[in-house]
Amino acid sequence: MLENKERTELKTLGEFGLIKHLTEHVEIYNPSSVKGIGDDAAVIKYGNEKHTLVTTDMLVEGVHFDLTYVPLKHLGYKAITVNLSDICAMNGTPKQVTVSYAASSRFSVEALEELYAGMLFACKKYNVDLIGGDTTSSTSGLIISVTAIGEADKDKVVYRNGAKEKDLLCVSGDLGGAYMGLQVLEREKFVFKDNPNLQPDLVGNDYILERQLKPEARLDIVELLQKLGVTPTSMIDVSDGLASEIIHICEQSGVGCELYEDKIPLDPQTFDRAREFSLDPTVCALSGGEDYELLFTIPMADYEKIKNVPDFTVIGHMTAKSSGINLIAKAGTSHPITAQGWNAFQ
Ligand SMILES: [Mg+2]
Repeated sequence: MLENKERTELKTLGEFGLIKHLTEHVEIYNPSSVKGIGDDAAVIKYGNEKHTLVTTDMLVEGVHFDLTYVPLKHLGYKAITVNLSDICAMNGTPKQVTVSYAASSRFSVEALEELYAGMLFACKKYNVDLIGGDTTSSTSGLIISVTAIGEADKDKVVYRNGAKEKDLLCVSGDLGGAYMGLQVLEREKFVFKDNPNLQPDLVGNDYILERQLKPEARLDIVELLQKLGVTPTSMIDVSDGLASEIIHICEQSGVGCELYEDKIPLDPQTFDRAREFSLDPTVCALSGGEDYELLFTIPMADYEKIKNVPDFTVIGHMTAKSSGINLIAKAGTSHPITAQGWNAFQ
């Protein structure tokens, strides 16, 4: 606990700082708890060939979502997929979810049916069973908490802490799109507030809007890695932004990293819209977050196995810890990477 008895504001620690602070005295009493707090999901063993993976995530109206532009069906879908993404980030297969929510009287049965329809749609798509949860009332808005349970062969679980010097740093898909989708939605909300007669102008933004409103968990990547015979040395999903995720892997693995700016995969729509908003597309990828792609490291020897997969991009390599965590800019200059990921307390 903090030594001084004065009040400390939550924002002074930030999300990661707060988790670290509150959990530093957590002790593990059971040998079946293989991995507790600190990765994308916890790992539990029950004595067979499989490990059980557990992860949970809470979504709060006004903090994580804005119902003025997020349809409830999409919100339900996303609430499930972002949790499944954390199971995938452990190289696991999601199997079950529990769903709990608190809703204020502002929400009708029909509204919650919409939310549920989105959740069930995601469950069907990912072959996951909804097995329980809790419902209660809230004095303000909607709060959703989802717990996902998955499994993996015990020698195939991938943690954040296994990256080695000289490993290649890879990412699936492309980055920054979800953030640019959010910028478009925020812009249209602003315009609408000013003049409610204007129709939202969302034409030509279909890809980035889908990235924001209906993200997928990359279970297909987990299956592909398996097929290719590649077990990453470390893995994390990109929920808070590339910079923040790279730092997690480097800190937990005790290595440094060189990330090449010109290798960061960007969709043309992300790039164009970023320019339109006078944003640096690289910064959108580094700090935007919510892409739910998988960021992972592999030994150089596995490069041949992945080099022809269009969905994978090698974006850098791991170095000695003493070299630090650096972005090699297009001009060839080196810049330390700092975390500017999502901080729910700001
Ligand atoms: Mg994660």
